[in-house]
Amino acid sequence: MPELPEVETIRRDLIRDVKGKRIKDVEILNPKVIKEPKPVEFKKRLKGATFKDFLRRGKLLAMELSSGDYLVAHLRMTGQLIYSAKKEEKARVILCLSGGNYLNFNDQRLFAELRLVCDWQKLKFVQELGPEPLEKEFTAQKFKQILTAKKAKIKPLLMDQTFIAGIGNLYAQEALFSAGILPTRPANKLKDKEIKKLHATIQKVLREGIRYRGSSVDNYVNGRGNPGAYHLRLKVYGREGKPCVKCKTKIKKINLGGRGTCFCPKCQK
Ligand SMILES: [Zn+2]
Repeated sequence: MPELPEVETIRRDLIRDVKGKRIKDVEILNPKVIKEPKPVEFKKRLKGATFKDFLRRGKLLAMELSSGDYLVAHLRMTGQLIYSAKKEEKARVILCLSGGNYLNFNDQRLFAELRLVCDWQKLKFVQELGPEPLEKEFTAQKFKQILTAKKAKIKPLLMDQTFIAGIGNLYAQEALFSAGILPTRPANKLKDKEIKKLHATIQKVLREGIRYRGSSVDNYVNGRGNPGAYHLRLKVYGREGKPCVKCKTKIKKINLGGRGTCFCPKCQK
């Protein structure tokens, strides 16, 4: 599932490839992915607009158009945005662009969502998003402040988008491993030193994820349709039964809030 680093990688790709291009036509192959407005209006309002900029908030991508509208994409489980010289076979929506190439919106499992809105920041779920973990305002002090009010287990809390935006199952596990903190620890019981460490490892794993252009553990590909490379560097995610990279103890896997969670029983306390 694409998390902050994957969506950020796609955003940077689209800035390079699609910024300034005009939408000549819109092909809707499965209207189910369009949440608003109605497909007919969606098509009408998109046609003729030019891509001005690409913004990100958490795992959400907002594409600014010359018409004043924003095309907002939430990729969820299997959504992909691929700029290509060809129409993708599995595409649900295809934008035909000036210059002759296409922006394909694929979504195998049909959980992804497209919206065309004039003020994307007013969308309810955008207003409810927690702080951006890579922004200056997200200091260790701020992290401590929001953590100490929570009794929830730290790992599902990190994945709660209203608590912090952009972190999912993969980067939550990696950040906790690097910080040496068990995923089951109650948030308000973390010591000051642990909070500082976790704040730093959250930023570290997200930045590394972006540097290696995302993790292709599922069907994630970047804006040009290529896999990322961060999954080759994962220390704990998906490594159940394998030796810990630090101490060689077997990595354990538990179910936490419905999500598989790996950790080292010796390094993480
Ligand atoms: Zn270990």
